[in-house]
Amino acid sequence: MNIPFVDLKAQYLSIKKDIDAAIQGVIDNTNFIGGKAIKDFETKFAALNGAKHVIGVGNGTDAIYIVMRMLGIGAGDEVITTAASWISTSETISQTGAKPIFVDIDPSTNTIDPRLIEAKITSRTKAIIPVHLYGHIAHVHEIKKICDRNKLFLIEDCAQSHFSSENDVLAGRLGIASTFSFYPGKNLGAYGDAGCIMTDNDELATNCRMFANHGAIKKHDHRMEGINSRLDTLQAAILTVKADHILKWTESRISRAAVYNEALKQVEQVSIPSVRTGTKHTFHLYVIRAKKRDELKEFLESNGIQTAIHYPTALPNLPAYRYLNHQPAEFPVATRYQSEILSLPMYPELTDDQIAYVVAKVKEFFEH
Ligand SMILES: *Cc1c(COP(=O)(O)O)cnc(C)c1O
Repeated sequence: MNIPFVDLKAQYLSIKKDIDAAIQGVIDNTNFIGGKAIKDFETKFAALNGAKHVIGVGNGTDAIYIVMRMLGIGAGDEVITTAASWISTSETISQTGAKPIFVDIDPSTNTIDPRLIEAKITSRTKAIIPVHLYGHIAHVHEIKKICDRNKLFLIEDCAQSHFSSENDVLAGRLGIASTFSFYPGKNLGAYGDAGCIMTDNDELATNCRMFANHGAIKKHDHRMEGINSRLDTLQAAILTVKADHILKWTESRISRAAVYNEALKQVEQVSIPSVRTGTKHTFHLYVIRAKKRDELKEFLESNGIQTAIHYPTALPNLPAYRYLNHQPAEFPVATRYQSEILSLPMYPELTDDQIAYVVAKVKEFFEH
């Protein structure tokens, strides 16, 4: 059996007629930048999340950068974030001129450990960016309290957590702003790069929209210098079609994870993902931990099972951050996990038989 890590083709085939019509509609209008398709998607995604404003942008990385810039974060400032994420979260901090301050992760959830945050706050700290990694929401209510106590902005990186929640509050709804990625493999994925900013703050929304479109409030009326990071109209049309299915796909991911959990919990060499009480984990990724991870990965590969590692090097340990002079021992959990984590195939269309095959091969590996 061959099992891909994600199967974007299976999902496309399940909604082919609507996707093809949406793409053809944009081409028929020859309205490739801006237009009604953008507004339609923004309105739909805002409604699904109960948010006041959604601003489509070019990708999830720019979304983080734009929010920080429009909150006035820049040179001389510090922004606290997690040691375990995709580099977008920290490289955008540096892009503003600010300094990324890394915090180790909670060993049970792989998200920023709130108990370690306050020790890293200084007079230069402006914001905290938790990442709801793998679809498991960070301790966001607790982090919000830390932000309020210390007068810091809370910016939620929701690139992996569409419709995750803590105490029935959706990811992205506690921060002054939150950012989403619609990269093709994300839970809600476009057919190219795409992202958005979500906020209930009117002024911040207006400024982010302006900044993402060359600082123009309307054509040729540039109130500031900005960047070019607009949501592509074709991508918006595709996302509008897919948004009708996203809640069902999310539930399917959760049920796929439950099938994995049930079968893998008897394998003592494997740690299955834990779900914190009161949270909804939407399983962008199904990440196990195991000793001999690299050998296991190779064994699965040789049996037709594609896996991945998110991420093989914790952010402070990357060559890109050598200039910060961190020691791996400062981030013991993130550093230990980088050699134990393994992402197994996960997508809404994954069948019980496919999961059974993956699990059988994992068991076979440890029986040898
Ligand atoms: C994917 C991702 C991003 C960036 O999104 P792009 O759309 O690829 O720019 C940011 N943060 C995290 C945690 C991500 O997984």
